[in-house]
Amino acid sequence: MAPSPPSSADADFLSDAYARLRQTVADRDDGTLPLPAALAHAVSALPRAAPPPGHDNSADDDDDDADTDPPLPGLAGLGRAATLDHLLSDIVPGLNSQALSPRYYGFVTGGALPIAEAADNIVSALDQNVQVHLPAHSASTAVEDAALRMLVSLLGLGDPSVWPGRTITTGATASNILGLACGREAVIAARLVERDSDVTVADDGLLAACQAAGVSAIQILTSMGHSSLSKAASVVGLGHRAVREMRRSEEEPWRLDLDAVERELADGEGRGVASMVVVSAGEVNTGRFALNALDMPKLRSLADRYGAWIHVDGAFGIFARALPKTDEFLSLRANVAGLELADSITVDGHKLLNVPYDTGFFLTRNASVLAQVFSNPNAAYLSPPPTSSSAAHINSPLNIGLENSRRFRALPVYAVLLSEGRDGMALILARMVRLARAVAAFVRDSRDYEWLPDEGASLESTHMVVLFRAKDERLNEVLVERINETRRMYVSGTQWKGMKAVRLAVGSWRVDVERDGEVVRGLLEGVVKGWRG
Ligand SMILES: *Cc1c(COP(=O)(O)O)cnc(C)c1O
Repeated sequence: MAPSPPSSADADFLSDAYARLRQTVADRDDGTLPLPAALAHAVSALPRAAPPPGHDNSADDDDDDADTDPPLPGLAGLGRAATLDHLLSDIVPGLNSQALSPRYYGFVTGGALPIAEAADNIVSALDQNVQVHLPAHSASTAVEDAALRMLVSLLGLGDPSVWPGRTITTGATASNILGLACGREAVIAARLVERDSDVTVADDGLLAACQAAGVSAIQILTSMGHSSLSKAASVVGLGHRAVREMRRSEEEPWRLDLDAVERELADGEGRGVASMVVVSAGEVNTGRFALNALDMPKLRSLADRYGAWIHVDGAFGIFARALPKTDEFLSLRANVAGLELADSITVDGHKLLNVPYDTGFFLTRNASVLAQVFSNPNAAYLSPPPTSSSAAHINSPLNIGLENSRRFRALPVYAVLLSEGRDGMALILARMVRLARAVAAFVRDSRDYEWLPDEGASLESTHMVVLFRAKDERLNEVLVERINETRRMYVSGTQWKGMKAVRLAVGSWRVDVERDGEVVRGLLEGVVKGWRG
């Protein structure tokens, strides 16, 4: 196939667009938040459509509707030059642009390393799809598999051949759906083998398979599972209420109570209840971890005894395994020790790995169950479902994940891992932890703030999330707004034990421990002074 290069006008258009984007974002001051005026402008600048013929638009003139009913953009065909002007001057200033700031600490968003952004633009320029493994036609599947093997190695999960079921997803939510779908298939299959039945969930559906297996319910045991876990439970036909909290204590609700898990597994077995256990590594609100040093081997032996599936939701926390192997991070490494014993693992890419949205990973030891759930049956033109688990074999992505066609998300991942390497990633991740600990130390020692969830904890328990509140109740009510109003840093609001709290999550490669630590301390002190003044 002879490539047809873009015309020089197209190429000029693209390079001009990109140069102007760079200029637009460089012109922004140090604020990580758009000004309210820019937000309002972005919405009001959406071009208004001419009303369709016969449409009574008297209601549209009603100003009260302005907030609730944004204008429908026009379809008159603005042309690309005017459209680009509109995007750059009206829309871009109204976006939160978290990737540009070292002090966007809302949610856990990460940023985008320049090499990742470059790779992502290559993917867009080529509109590269990943679907069937066709090594004679495209290198994309080989690059994707190389990126996945590099990730397994970065996270110290053993030889990549231990994880023959591996694929790239749109994020941790999608990976959790894959994990529960595989777990569901496997825990029922284990009971069907005992009954010598060839029924499967994939072929016969959940209801028939449960009936054949004598399974009355499937429970998901976890501690402070991420909200996407409940969503995944609904998607795979188990329901939100299948998720059951096994929290160790009120003080440490993120920790999984292994004694309770054992009781539930044993009790469930007697009642025909099959189980999955989901390990929160780590928990998104507090940043803390469900397990400690020797817990995982114990959980593994429980799961083996009762035929349960272990899924690790390691969206951001599992990157603690890639920190420098020094005493500074000893305690965090204990929190993520043994995760390689899981049956399946969720990892996010667009958070701490600092690749652009939307990228996540799913790993499982059980490639055949992954293929059983996600294969396209009866499609002769697609490659046959994988049977081999040898490391050299590459599964066609469309038979091991949700989408048939999808973006070549692997390229930015491959580029980041190749560019930074193990040591470079360790340093980026260490900077995040050091900044979070500097902020944690400040709020712990401050007379005006309270460090949550437990002021007595060691700083070494901090990964990259810091939870805190203002001691002054009235300031605490508006603390998130007061901080974000400064526009020099952004945090999200949350609740802890029924009270408002601030959640500060460090996830960008851009952070500088000294500089940003100073700025954050100054801003937090300034917020208190401003409140008193
Ligand atoms: C962010 C997060 C998710 C959801 O991830 P998305 O990438 O937004 O789909 C799931 N689990 C945990 C622990 C998370 O932190």
